[in-house]
Amino acid sequence: MNNRMRATLYSAITLLVVCAAITAQTRQQLPAPDRRAGEGEGPFQRLIIRGATVIDGTGAPPQGPVDIVVENNRIREVRSVGQPRVPIREAARPRDATREIDAQGMYVLPGLIDVHAHIGGLAQGTSAEYVYKLWMAHGITTIRDPGSLNGIDWTLSERDRSAQNRIVAPRIFVYVVAGSGWDRGPIGTPATAREYVRWAKAKGVDGFKILGDGPIYDPENMAALLNEAATLNLGTAAHLAQMGVARMNALDAARLGLTSMEHWYGLPEALFTDRTIQNYPPEYNYSDEQHRFGEAGRLWKQAAPPGSEKWNAVMNEMLKLGFTIDPTFTIYEASRDLQRAMRAEWHDRFTLPSLWRFYQPSREAHGSYWFYWTTQDEIEWKTNFRLWMAFVNEYKNRGGRVTTGSDSGFIYKLYGFDYIRELELLQEAGFHPLEVVRSATLYGSQLLHAPKGKPIAFGIIRPGLLADLVIVPENPLANFKVLYGTGAIRLNDQTGQVERVGGVKYVIKDGIVYDARRLLADVERIVDEARKKTPTVAN
Ligand SMILES: [Zn+2]
Repeated sequence: MNNRMRATLYSAITLLVVCAAITAQTRQQLPAPDRRAGEGEGPFQRLIIRGATVIDGTGAPPQGPVDIVVENNRIREVRSVGQPRVPIREAARPRDATREIDAQGMYVLPGLIDVHAHIGGLAQGTSAEYVYKLWMAHGITTIRDPGSLNGIDWTLSERDRSAQNRIVAPRIFVYVVAGSGWDRGPIGTPATAREYVRWAKAKGVDGFKILGDGPIYDPENMAALLNEAATLNLGTAAHLAQMGVARMNALDAARLGLTSMEHWYGLPEALFTDRTIQNYPPEYNYSDEQHRFGEAGRLWKQAAPPGSEKWNAVMNEMLKLGFTIDPTFTIYEASRDLQRAMRAEWHDRFTLPSLWRFYQPSREAHGSYWFYWTTQDEIEWKTNFRLWMAFVNEYKNRGGRVTTGSDSGFIYKLYGFDYIRELELLQEAGFHPLEVVRSATLYGSQLLHAPKGKPIAFGIIRPGLLADLVIVPENPLANFKVLYGTGAIRLNDQTGQVERVGGVKYVIKDGIVYDARRLLADVERIVDEARKKTPTVAN
């Protein structure tokens, strides 16, 4: 969330000023501790996952039983070993395993990719370990950190430690806020935009996030930034905030070479036909977050309707430009149903007290805009969602790339859990579950590799690619809820008892096997310890 990010940034800056005597490191979130003994097993010389049903991420239907051979950190072979419901042909199976996982009756997917994943920070009171383990426990093996709000050096360091598997964490792609981290002030001219891109490239970043307000939205500055990034094969993502959107809507930015749009801001504005500026009431003040989010919920109905000439023209042009849409439906869910997000069952066990406090209504702690959220506000947002989902689903149907991002850590949305919720919301938008999985795997990977024009290194289950895999005991295509760490509720008709089924069993990143339940147990322990220190906070 834009304002929250700014809040984080501002609070970090304020803290630095106030605590000038404290070293720079203390204003940042705690980096993850080194991987301890017993945290993850492997990589193995020859790991064989036996008897699984595989969902490969390309859009192909499930197939099984198969044996998957992983040598060190790469997928070596995916071999069909029979047909369902009959004994496996033992003679046909790959041999010489140095480690085996019996995955009979289980499903294997590529590691999931959250392309809008903030590592958290001071404002949330989260440690990197807490955030990473929530992600990994939900099968997320790669993230893009949009903004990298703990600082460029901090995030690059965590990226490298993760790449070396020195920490328990997904692969990290570092997209920094354009203009942040250097001492030459904000980007105010095309020349400084280009200079900044080259400076950040030299630091080693993977791309840029555009957000906030100010002169970065001036078309000549935006053009220079996007062009220089593209020239240097770096990706770009933008949250086209209301303060800049009158000068730069999603289509304008796509034409200038933006790689992906985050959320949805700038899209209805590109679809205006009977206005050029959102119908702001006269008392509107962007810094009043109930104004901001309340009026945002009344925005899509001001745009050209589905199927209209304008709707088609904008969509056609975006498709032709190869533009990626990363909707992050989940982070807006509280706007259409506050109680659902607020009372999600996982808060009880897995939400840190500091994070819970951060979610509470406040005029100062930006992003918690429930000053007086009404029935009508939620109804407006439901209409907003219907139109927005129609655009995204049609974009997918016509060949556009839609990815999965969660933006968790804000607005009652918890890391990992609410990424799974994003999968459910894409299905609600009209995606077949296989289309959802493709967005969560192959398409995410393509987005992260495309700016560099490189073939993908991970993202589908294919020999030669990196071994990032998720093993889940239930069929996620039948019910994405089985991917939640808390599982899905099912009545057992044999016993008459209510059971919890699912939850990821193993997550494999770079050939290293992690027990997902153990990761969740670590998170629960972190939460318990924090509660002991602040016993008065009840979720
Ligand atoms: Zn965000």
